Amino acid sequence: MRTDVRVCIIGGGALGCSIAYYLARMGCREVLLLEKTEIGAGSTSQAAGLVGRLRGSALMTDLMHLAVRNLKALREETGEDPDFHEVGSIRLALTAAREEELRRQVAFGKRHGLQIDFIGPAEARRLVPALEIAGVRVMTYIPDDGFVDPYLLTMAFAKGARRHGVQIRRGVAAEGILVEDGAVAGVVAGGEEIRAQWVVDAAGAWSEPVAAMAGIRVPQFPVRHQLWVTADLPGVRPDQPVVRIPDAYAYVRPEVRGLLIGFFEPSAVGLDPGTLRRDFEMRFLPTDDRVLATWAPPVGAQFPALLDAPIVRGCAGLPTFTPDGRFLLGEAPTVKRFVIASGCCAHGIMTAPAVGQLVAELILEGKPSLDLAPLSPGRFGPEYGDRSRLQAACEAVHNGYYALSPGYR
Ligand SMILES: Cc1cc2nc3c(=O)[nH]c(=O)nc-3n(C[C@H](O)[C@H](O)[C@H](O)COP(=O)(O)OP(=O)(O)OC[C@H]3O[C@@H](n4cnc5c(N)ncnc54)[C@H](O)[C@@H]3O)c2cc1C
Repeated sequence: MRTDVRVCIIGGGALGCSIAYYLARMGCREVLLLEKTEIGAGSTSQAAGLVGRLRGSALMTDLMHLAVRNLKALREETGEDPDFHEVGSIRLALTAAREEELRRQVAFGKRHGLQIDFIGPAEARRLVPALEIAGVRVMTYIPDDGFVDPYLLTMAFAKGARRHGVQIRRGVAAEGILVEDGAVAGVVAGGEEIRAQWVVDAAGAWSEPVAAMAGIRVPQFPVRHQLWVTADLPGVRPDQPVVRIPDAYAYVRPEVRGLLIGFFEPSAVGLDPGTLRRDFEMRFLPTDDRVLATWAPPVGAQFPALLDAPIVRGCAGLPTFTPDGRFLLGEAPTVKRFVIASGCCAHGIMTAPAVGQLVAELILEGKPSLDLAPLSPGRFGPEYGDRSRLQAACEAVHNGYYALSPGYR
């Protein structure tokens, strides 16, 4: 059997489904998306769904402006609700050095069109009654940040794409990549040859083994990232802002009347996708509850209710990290028309509404509306061909995520 399409997308997570949706929305209907298990079953289904506009570079801040604009248009466009809670976000500084970083962030954010400013204790308590202010030096507030439901967002893209004519095959894995004369020619899946002018690798933690089938290197490594959700707690409101406490490696958002707490703890470990069983599914990845036991108590200084809170569930997933903390987005350096969309460094949900549009523009118009050159998958030298070096560099990006940044200048 043989199928002919213009674009074959491998992976039905937030990124793959967004790319399918924007391709179709821009008029390209000959699109086939392959998903080896279920839509959203990868890291997407495990995510906290935070949407934060403040990013460390002008490119990523512009990308987030586009992402939020597209996110807000999605319900009207598709009739599907991604459940965006525009509740705002607060960031706390517990040290003098962090206070100085927050001052740079406010100046940087204002220069890049963000509504960001300092707020005082009374305003913070009004917004988050469960927050303890003692020990906090300063706080910033971005009113139009928030969080989204990652699964509903992904389903909105998938349903929207399908309505525009995209074919989605669930339970079908890409098993081979066809390359002819230095350009991609298609995909082998389910015993069938799928001829495609373009192939997009949006396979998340598996992007590297997928690209390897075409002899392409993807310099990324999946690192385990985890969160936990408490039972309902007194004083917690479903519409309270997200709170980031980088000095405690943590972010906290409401989950109805309980709290969701996630960590960029400084000791997370990578997991080589090559060691995973063929039938591995992300929901089977166990949480390491020692991370919660170690890192929740410092957060308890700001959220005392957390200290004795019953935990109702934990989630672990494998977001992909790159050695420099930037995404991998663009054509592979060695095989033409093979596009990599991965290495999102735990930001693939919030950025998906922009990444989908930008990849669709790259494929259909030859040039995305934002210059993605700094995210080129070919930017790394041969040094990261060494797997242990690649793993260590990617773990360092996760584990240093909430370290003090010299940036925002
Ligand atoms: C605990 C946790 C919290 C997070 N919080 C946030 C957050 O607040 N905000 C944010 O933006 N991001 C967050 N992330 C990161 C986010 O989950 C990822 O960046 C995002 O889900 C990546 O989406 P994806 O589509 O690239 O990958 P995935 O969702 O992993 O999708 C890849 C898909 O490809 C499929 N696949 C793999 N191999 C094949 C093959 N050979 N053939 C066909 N299909 C294949 C897989 O089955 C999978 O469904 C978090 C992650 C975790 C784990």
